[in-house]
Amino acid sequence: MKEKVVYWLTGSQTLYGDDVLAHVAQHSQEMADYVNGKMPVTVKYLTTCKSSDEVIAAIKQVNADENCIGIITWCHTFSPAKMWIKGLHMLQKPMCHFATQYNEKLPYDTIDMDFMNENQAAHGDREFGYIVSRLRMDNKVVVGYYKDEEALKELAAWCKAAAGIAFSKTVKVCRFSDNMRDVAVTEGDKVEAHINLGWQVDYYPIGDLVQYIEKVTEGEVDALMAEYDKKYTMATKNIAAVREQAKYEIAMDRFCKEKGGYLGIVDHFGALHGLNQLPGLAIQDLQSKGYGFGAEGDWKIAALGAVMQYMADQKGTGLMEDYTYDLKDGLCLGAHMLEVSPQFAATKPEIQVHPLGIGGKSDPARLVFEGIAAPEAVAVSMVDMGDRIRLIVQKIELVKYPKKMPNLPVGGLMWKYQPNFKDGVAAWIYAGGAHHTVVSSVLTVEDMRSLGDMWGIETVVIDEHTDIHEFKKQLTYSDIIYKSRF
Ligand code: MN
Repeated sequence: MKEKVVYWLTGSQTLYGDDVLAHVAQHSQEMADYVNGKMPVTVKYLTTCKSSDEVIAAIKQVNADENCIGIITWCHTFSPAKMWIKGLHMLQKPMCHFATQYNEKLPYDTIDMDFMNENQAAHGDREFGYIVSRLRMDNKVVVGYYKDEEALKELAAWCKAAAGIAFSKTVKVCRFSDNMRDVAVTEGDKVEAHINLGWQVDYYPIGDLVQYIEKVTEGEVDALMAEYDKKYTMATKNIAAVREQAKYEIAMDRFCKEKGGYLGIVDHFGALHGLNQLPGLAIQDLQSKGYGFGAEGDWKIAALGAVMQYMADQKGTGLMEDYTYDLKDGLCLGAHMLEVSPQFAATKPEIQVHPLGIGGKSDPARLVFEGIAAPEAVAVSMVDMGDRIRLIVQKIELVKYPKKMPNLPVGGLMWKYQPNFKDGVAAWIYAGGAHHTVVSSVLTVEDMRSLGDMWGIETVVIDEHTDIHEFKKQLTYSDIIYKSRF
């Protein structure tokens, strides 16, 4: 992600003379360099804009630079905002207005009008903000001293989301099945997702994958088995079943790469003709390497998983499914039939082989482990409301299993809902949140809110501030807003 660039554009004008402009450029460089050291992406001071033509030239450069994922703007001095109109109209990338200042404290003993004219962000940022607001740009405003940790945290979330948006435009999902019969929530408008999120979702018959599986050599399987041996504990004597999964993994990875760089994979336990196991270990290991995965045809979760994995640097992020509650202690146990990412493992995963009650195939090899604890994590769902896409973000706390579950042969997670069990579950259900989610112990509510805002889709957050009555109202208002917008 550090290869991605955010350009820092400073607003000013020629009114104050060359000396002031030299200071403006010098300060901007210094500030951008400092901020760069604190961001997950590269922040580079681009230029100080003093006229409409200069803004247009800078924005053209921003748009054309493939590595550039967005801009940070700030007005050191007053910068008459009519000069920003044409350039901002052309901007094709996310923008963050950093309402900051070169100095933190006022120099009370020495301050004079020269200082006031050179350092007037409070003045300039308002003029700039007016035109951005009038242009109805959905930008982000971060306020604070440029070395302030809180402000930098907010800015980092924005940078991460801007990188996520750029990455999202490259996401392609390879689906080996349609959605599971009769299931509603995993459905969605793929064309709308392509338009709004940049996701290309393609179907291939599972037979196409079988051809790849048949071509995997024993030598390739040996090599992957050696990798498994390093990362996992072999806790089965049924090595043939494990080798079968290794074949699936090699074939799927090759298929995705050769067919045009798919970053998400979708399968379905009911559509496995030519495979004798449900891919379990194979999908788990592929998720650990950054692939997004959606089960039962759920392409939305596969694509969202790929984007979130990228934003989380392939750590603590993957498919999850709300499964069963401990109502007494207000907990949810999440897992899936097999395909839980080892990125969630608190203990070294064991490779085990057990029968699977659903699907009618041979006993599949899978990774079994207890999930991690994390005080702050997010569970994210994406649903199609018919007239729009809704992103639902819930703050959760991942907790240690209160007791061993020796008969549960899958990887899993346990969590507590925010703001509390009762309202957290109710809010999720009112919002139409799915059973399939992408959980991340690395990404925050702020990261996901920034991402949703940049996509320009409806984003609802359930966290410690959620009041269930206000939340229901918000959903009603959203319906009205989105109906009037589109
Ligand atoms: Mn499922």
